[in-house]
Amino acid sequence: MSVEKIERGLLKTRKTLKEICRELDLDMPDKEELLIDQCAHCGVWHKNYKLVEDLDGNYICSYCEDLVGL
Ligand SMILES: [Zn+2]
Repeated sequence: MSVEKIERGLLKTRKTLKEICRELDLDMPDKEELLIDQCAHCGVWHKNYKLVEDLDGNYICSYCEDLVGL
């Protein structure tokens, strides 16, 4: 399944969806199909469930959560 390949390619990187699709020579999926998302602070991709909502309603990773001191 190509979406999984894209997710694996993006995890822990700051690549854009467009970049990874070009790299893997795949069509761009809808962002809603992905089970991963980018941290609003550092831009690194993580599994959805690992991101937490900060006080402004942005989803951030645990590393940034520590920095912000939530
Ligand atoms: Zn982050």
